[in-house]
Order: sequence, then C-alpha cells, then structure tokens
Amino acid sequence: MAFKQQGVKIGVIGTGFVGSTIAYTLMMGGLVSELVMVDIDKNRASGEAMDLRHGVSFLRPTNIVAGDYEDCAGADIVIITAGANQKPDETRLDLVKRNTEIFKDILPRLEPNLAEDSLLLVVSNPVDILAYVAWRLSDLPARRVIGSGTVLDSSRFRYLLSQHCGIDSRNIHGYIIGEHGDSKVAVWSGTNIAGVPFNEFCLKCDDQCAAECRESISQQVKQAAYEVIEKKGATYYAVALAVQKIVESLLRDENSILTVSTLREGEYGLNDLYLSLPTIINRDGVAEVIDIELAKEEEARLLDSARVLKTAIEELDL
Ligand code: NAD
Repeated sequence: MAFKQQGVKIGVIGTGFVGSTIAYTLMMGGLVSELVMVDIDKNRASGEAMDLRHGVSFLRPTNIVAGDYEDCAGADIVIITAGANQKPDETRLDLVKRNTEIFKDILPRLEPNLAEDSLLLVVSNPVDILAYVAWRLSDLPARRVIGSGTVLDSSRFRYLLSQHCGIDSRNIHGYIIGEHGDSKVAVWSGTNIAGVPFNEFCLKCDDQCAAECRESISQQVKQAAYEVIEKKGATYYAVALAVQKIVESLLRDENSILTVSTLREGEYGLNDLYLSLPTIINRDGVAEVIDIELAKEEEARLLDSARVLKTAIEELDL
C-alpha cells in the first residue's frame, strides 16, 4: 500500500555544492517530508539524491528524489541555487549575464508547477539581481520571491564580533544590509550586545578597540567569500545553514527578522530593485521591512549599494 505524503515539500533547483549541501542541511533539520532535486545535469541530481537517501534511516522519514520541474508541483518552497559560481578573481556581479540566462531557462519551466502559496527562495549569485529576475519572470507576488541576501554576511559579522568580544554570537545583534556583494554595509550604529551599543560595550573592555576594530571586521566580512573560494573553490556550509534558518522561519510562520533580499518599495527612497534590510518573514513570505535608523554615513553607503544594483538591473535584458 502506498501512503501519500502530506507534509512539507521543497524543490531544490541546482544540485551542485550549494544545492546539495542545502538538501543535506534540510534533511538533517527534519522539517521537510519531500525533497525534489532538479539539475540540468540529471546524473548529478540523481547521484546526490541517492547519497542523501542512504542516510534517511538515521533521521526522520524524508522522501528525497531527483526529478524535473513537474515533480516540484505544489512545493511549499522552491530554492534556486543553479548557476555558475564565482571563480577566485570574479565578483558576484560578474556572474550576472550567465546566471540571468540560466534563470530564463528555469523560470518558465518552474512557473506552471508553482502553487498559489509557493515561495521562491533565490540563492544563486548575484543574489539580489537574480531574485529580482525571478520575481519579474514569475507570476508570484514580490512578497513570495525572496533572496537569501545578506543573511550569511550578517552571520559572518556576528561570528567575527563574537570572536572579538568573547561573547556567544547568538547574543550579538547586528546586521549587514544592502547588496550581498562588494557594496554591502555593516550597520555599526545599531549593533548591540544585550542592548548595550557596541561602542559602549567595547569601551568597557581593557583593549578599548572600538574604533580600529570596525574597519578590520567590516573588511573581513567583505573578503570572507573571496578567501574561502581562494582556499577551497566554493562556499557552501554556512550558506546552507543560512538557508535552513530562512526556510524554518518561513515554514514555521516564525515572524523572524532576517536580512533577506526583497523588493524595495520606497524604503530610503529606493524602488524597483532587490536588496537586503532587516525584514520580518513568515509563511506568507515578507511581512514587513523594519525601518531602522541608520547613521548618515551608513545611509549614504546603502544608497551607493542600491546604485550598484540598479545599474546592473538596468543592463538586464528581461
Ligand atoms: P556549482 O557549479 O557546484 O552548482 C551549480 C549547479 O547548477 C550545477 O550542478 C549545474 O549543473 C546547475 N545548473 C546550471 N545550469 C542549470 C540549469 N539551466 N538548470 C538547472 N541546473 C543548472 O555551484 P555552487 O557552488 O553550488 O554555487 C551555486 C550558486 O550559489 C552560485 O551562483 C554561487 O555564487 C551561489 N552562492 C550563493 C551564496 C549566497 O549567500 N547567496 C553563497 C554561496 C554560493
């Protein structure tokens, strides 16, 4: 007798380093009943699905299949990781033309299989541009098309601060906003530890290093992906955990605040582009963008970041 599964279904498009690590992380998380893995390289998708399936007996039951776009029918979330990744001397923006063409191949085939309440989560880079492309090429409302944005960068930021201050990173509140790319902005003015602004917290310690450490930490966050790619060719573990956090927040209707990349609709005077700001997300996708007060220079840098993305969007042939 075959039992029909009624649980959560997720499609992962692109089963390279990032897609397969996300699938592994989701399987470990135990929230998903069915994972459909799609790749232009069908052998790759099939091999990854088999490898994952062989571990299911240690975990909660999860039906992991390699499939096609039709197999994603009615998925709660479809995560797109397909596309080229950065080579050691490439920026994320260098990938824009190649990966936009790939999205033009994927979206028309995926679209007929999406349900009214499906969510699209874009991870491929440049993620802000490609989340915008995915929104433009799909019929979903913008609140249901989300980019993983600077959730990973914010995690790197909090980790580095935790190392610097000797505090659990979960107790450090701080955000990286703007482009998931070279123009990202660290919001130092709003960073706090147990409600104590970072500047003040830092002054309490003997090292008194608030001013000089900022530049170094901001630079390390900016260089993080380049450094990992230089050393091992790709980044995938931390982004998979960032995606797991986003997926949980969406599926469990958590109203979590994460720096996902979403359509800008007037915040800071920005319109018709995707970039990251602290955003409340739940099962409907984007609930609300938090209006945070930025220092003057942070706001100026956010506008610069938006200009970089806007220029790239204007050059798209959609
Ligand atoms: P990868 O080369 O290992 O995997 C990409 C996969 O996409 C390959 O398996 C390839 O066959 C597949 N693919 C290509 N064209 C396709 C198509 N038309 N249809 C379906 N599948 C297709 O690369 P990766 O390291 O897994 O990186 C994937 C993407 O994720 C890159 O764009 C990378 O820059 C991005 N990334 C994003 C973040 C983030 O924080 N947003 C972090 C790391 C990587």
